[in-house]
Amino acid sequence: MESMHISPVSLRGHHLICLHFFNGEGYRPNFVANLRNILERAETGEQINICEGADDICSACPSLQEKRCRYSEDSEKEIKEMDRAAIELLHIQSHVKISWLAIKERIPEIFASWAGKFCRECDWFAVCRNNKVFTRLLDEKAQSEF
Ligand code: SF4
Repeated sequence: MESMHISPVSLRGHHLICLHFFNGEGYRPNFVANLRNILERAETGEQINICEGADDICSACPSLQEKRCRYSEDSEKEIKEMDRAAIELLHIQSHVKISWLAIKERIPEIFASWAGKFCRECDWFAVCRNNKVFTRLLDEKAQSEF
């Protein structure tokens, strides 16, 4: 069947990692619905365009204002740093296309570095801990850091 979408899914760096631990929770219902839709498209084989700045997840986020993250005073700077770190850890580049499966396969090997650097201070840590994959990876690779 032909896809209804004319452009690929656009995702920024840190979403390429964090979305693997999505557990159905989010800022508000339309944010969660959009996230589910994007993940479904990615998981059923649509190519991912690796973008910089606000992406297809951010577009439904209440904190996005004038293309910048206003979640907190420093959030724009912080998530850009997370994006850069994710791209580097995953050994990919912005503005290229990749499959969700190819990213997923790399998560176990980069998880300890990612979790050690970002997860401890993250507001979503308690939510991610409810995700079985996250918990397993944490047990396997990074438990000593927490
Ligand atoms: S705890 Fe935060 S930084 Fe870590 S995977 Fe979850 S959302 Fe991403």
